[in-house]
Amino acid sequence: MSRIQKLSDQVTNMIAAGEVVERPMGVVKELVENSMDAGAKDIEIRITDGGLKSISVQDDGCGMDPADAVNSLGRHATSKIARADDLWNIRTMGFRGEALPSIASVSRLDLLTNDGSQGTEVKVEYGKITYAGPQAAPEGTLVTVESLFYRTPARLKHMKSPQSEAGAVIELAERFAFAREDIAFRLYSNDVLRLETTGGGDLMEVLYRVYGARMAESAVAAEFHDYDFACRALLVMPEFTRASRQDILICVNDRVVHSYKIQKALIRAYEPYHAPQRYPICVLKIKTDPRLVDVNVHPSKWEIRLSKEEQLTQLVENHVRRALAENFRLRGMPSFSAPEEAPKKAASAVPACGKESVRMQQTFDALPEMQEAAAVREKELPEREIFPQEEETAEEQPVIRGRKLPDLRVIGQFHADYILAEGKDGLYIIDQHAAQERMNYERLWKQFSAGGGAVQPLLVPLSLKLTPSRAAQAEGLKEYFRQIGLSIETPGDNTVVLQEVPVWMTDLDVEAALQELIDQYDPAHPTSRADLQKHAVATMACHSSIRFNRTLSLGEMEKVIEDLNACEQPYNCPHGRPTIIRITDEDLRKEFDRG
Ligand code: ADP
Ligand code: MG
Repeated sequence: MSRIQKLSDQVTNMIAAGEVVERPMGVVKELVENSMDAGAKDIEIRITDGGLKSISVQDDGCGMDPADAVNSLGRHATSKIARADDLWNIRTMGFRGEALPSIASVSRLDLLTNDGSQGTEVKVEYGKITYAGPQAAPEGTLVTVESLFYRTPARLKHMKSPQSEAGAVIELAERFAFAREDIAFRLYSNDVLRLETTGGGDLMEVLYRVYGARMAESAVAAEFHDYDFACRALLVMPEFTRASRQDILICVNDRVVHSYKIQKALIRAYEPYHAPQRYPICVLKIKTDPRLVDVNVHPSKWEIRLSKEEQLTQLVENHVRRALAENFRLRGMPSFSAPEEAPKKAASAVPACGKESVRMQQTFDALPEMQEAAAVREKELPEREIFPQEEETAEEQPVIRGRKLPDLRVIGQFHADYILAEGKDGLYIIDQHAAQERMNYERLWKQFSAGGGAVQPLLVPLSLKLTPSRAAQAEGLKEYFRQIGLSIETPGDNTVVLQEVPVWMTDLDVEAALQELIDQYDPAHPTSRADLQKHAVATMACHSSIRFNRTLSLGEMEKVIEDLNACEQPYNCPHGRPTIIRITDEDLRKEFDRG
């Protein structure tokens, strides 16, 4: 007897649902994409209990007539493609015609729609239409999904807490907001408004809404293109970093996608500024001919296949790297690249009680002769009249000509930890320890890269004690250290022995650095060779020579700044902490004006 039989629609829909709508987030994704395809300009998402209780998506799109409203729930029913050829030229978010029936097969779904001439309602309970008929409705479509997975307990069991399901939905909404800055989005979770964008078409506004003012102020926009790809990017400067790749958002033709290769290109562009295992916050929106994009790779459509991907990653890496090099100067320096604009911005940000000083400032601005007079006064009446003994020191303090840093003049030292310096546009504070780490790191990295394997024997072999659990990982440790040019011996008595070190480590506190590297060794989370090497050199740099918290002479302070100036990337220590910060004149004025 034959045993193969054709599955019922209900069963195939449920199987499809397993792929398309794994969690509430997947349902929201499909419904919102339908709204986008319907030409909506305003989309409101509501979830209760993370979407497990209910999800609704309301749009102001084109709506459906009564026949389509019923048909939309049929399997493989779509208005978006008709012929096989269309698959290679997809301009809509959806095309598979399986989302609505899939969702309806595992929930109670209510579709209320109006195409501008009449309103229709269709109700479905776990795959069975229970009502279809006329119903008053605003123009557009409202889909409500309740009791999701209630009848599929195996799936329900895999749901996380309502909070984490809600988190996934909110994150999705943020991504949509970036993908379509021309659509107004609102997201309510348990009736609390969690995200709102205006749909004004301003990507920076979306960044502001999602990440807040500090990130938005730090971000710069970049645009670039070649024959095949047009790209727009918002790059948060590397003063802010993240521990995961979560905040790297990539859209291709308005679709948020996961692309390992494009992501990697962005990470590479940021790499010189980042500590190992830190990742950027950035948005990259790519437009290209839909024929270069194959979206039919996975039912949830997070993955795509892209022709000319190599060309695109090169384009992205080069331009993002250039944009960062041009724009990233110092922490807290949004005005650095556009000094003329700073006072305006700061003035408008002054709180109400600061009005007086704003007006005064304007008066000064309006009277250049007063400024001139002030300048002359300063020249003609140097400090020496009041502090004659200061004269010599004042003469001795040369301006250190900036290379990557601005021109700076050392003022003094604070708490034997920080160097204070004066620049054209503010007060600069240099963390001398972080600065030294940066310099050491770059010097060591050069030596390491040039290495060539030359080693120097130690007079006394270095022996380090291991914990028993570490000792059990001896083989892994050997390999770990081999990658950074260290050959260790593990004689089997819970120790690590080092007979020689690479030449570049000669002046370092190898013991302390090695101990730290052993402590950080984590076989469960192997890092790439490149990351490991960077990390090891950064750790070595940290243990190199004198700790720097001591009083420095003027000459020594100048030397620190000069050396920092000579660095490839003087702005952060290898662990990502800033080496230098600036307090602008504006900042100071604001502080004193608070009243
Ligand atoms: P697909 O989006 O792949 O076509 P769906 O099952 O998601 O498949 O939707 C089926 C059809 O229902 C769509 O092709 C569209 O014609 C219609 N539809 C779904 N949602 C909406 C909506 N919000 N507004 C207007 N039409 C919609
Ligand atoms: Mg769809």
